[in-house]
Amino acid sequence: MRLTVLMNAGPWLSVPPPGYGGIENVVATLVPELRRLGVRVVLASVGTSTLPVDERFSVFGDGQFAALQRPYNQVCGISQAHLDGVVRQLHARDDIDLVHDHVEAVGLATLAAMGPAGPPALHTLHWDLTKHPELYGNLDAGGRVRVNGVSASQLARAPGALREHSVGHVHLSTPLAVDADRAPRREKGDYAVVLGRITPGKGQDLGARLARRVGVPLVLAGPVGPYHRPADLAAAGDDARQNPDVRFFADEVAPHVDGELVRWVGTVAGRARDDLLAGARAAFFPLRWEEPGGTAVVEALALGTPVVATARGCLPELVEHGRTGLLTADEEELGELLLAASLLDPAECRREAATRFTPAVMAQKYLGLYEKVRQGAPARRLRAA
Ligand code: UDP
Repeated sequence: MRLTVLMNAGPWLSVPPPGYGGIENVVATLVPELRRLGVRVVLASVGTSTLPVDERFSVFGDGQFAALQRPYNQVCGISQAHLDGVVRQLHARDDIDLVHDHVEAVGLATLAAMGPAGPPALHTLHWDLTKHPELYGNLDAGGRVRVNGVSASQLARAPGALREHSVGHVHLSTPLAVDADRAPRREKGDYAVVLGRITPGKGQDLGARLARRVGVPLVLAGPVGPYHRPADLAAAGDDARQNPDVRFFADEVAPHVDGELVRWVGTVAGRARDDLLAGARAAFFPLRWEEPGGTAVVEALALGTPVVATARGCLPELVEHGRTGLLTADEEELGELLLAASLLDPAECRREAATRFTPAVMAQKYLGLYEKVRQGAPARRLRAA
């Protein structure tokens, strides 16, 4: 019998995402591979998603990401409305063998609350697990909803009640890793790049300061809150400062952005993003938080770009110091490591990605977890029609 999985990507961005979008990128990478392995995929996303699937449904016509910047009491209904659509589907049909859920907190709570009326579910924890202690610290999902992390270090920091629901971790992957070891050598520029949301945890302020100190040109790529282009942020005026990432950028990062040695280029997507990353001497992660999964880290390796990073979160699991990158616990040393990164061999990075971070590797691991979750779950009791 073919396995049917309801893949719940959530209401925030289309799949694949138009540019920035860590979770949606994971879903867009995983689904084609699962389908190749014979899994039937029903995608719960937004109307603008274009990922080929067997069936799809949505509550919202397009991504609601921009609304995330509004106060909680104005936006808390969005993910609830999306989950309401998912629950209706689950009540209405009996062909879903498993839900693979990616919706922060609400997905987990809703599926757990369905109890035996719902199919077994795997909820992937894409975020920092010190968040939501009220939910994670006290979770009882009755054996039906299990969770997985995106790195061992992330799960190791999780509250005990959440860890008890865990079936392990699966590292993130990227389609760029397929045959990455056979890709031709790319010309390298002298610059480093920080690719990611501009936000305190990603440390763009520290990165910009250190790059200036050692004289390495630095490109900051990624959105500031809901603003994807410098012109949009400039046009937004003072109201934009309600957003904490906008305040962080304006107060801590922008003073280092001189448009020459340090540039903010906004969100880069598709080929432009790949070229920017592939041409860099280093992908720079001057982290101030425990990075849970690091999609951009595996993307950099796949494109033959060594990683220079704070040795925090998943970085030591993904990057081997001295071979595929340079890691340090000492923030101030990061600048010197940027200079040394050009001594590392891009081919080692690509080989590592082609071995460890391909979609096929990720999909096989998820299939294993789906099996584990289904075997451990008590039988489903469908609601009477
Ligand atoms: N990204 C992108 N363009 C940008 C900035 C980020 O395409 O300008 C992508 C990046 O390539 C990665 C994702 O957004 O696929 C960010 O995921 P990651 O796990 O690195 O960070 P987070 O989910 O914490 O933002």
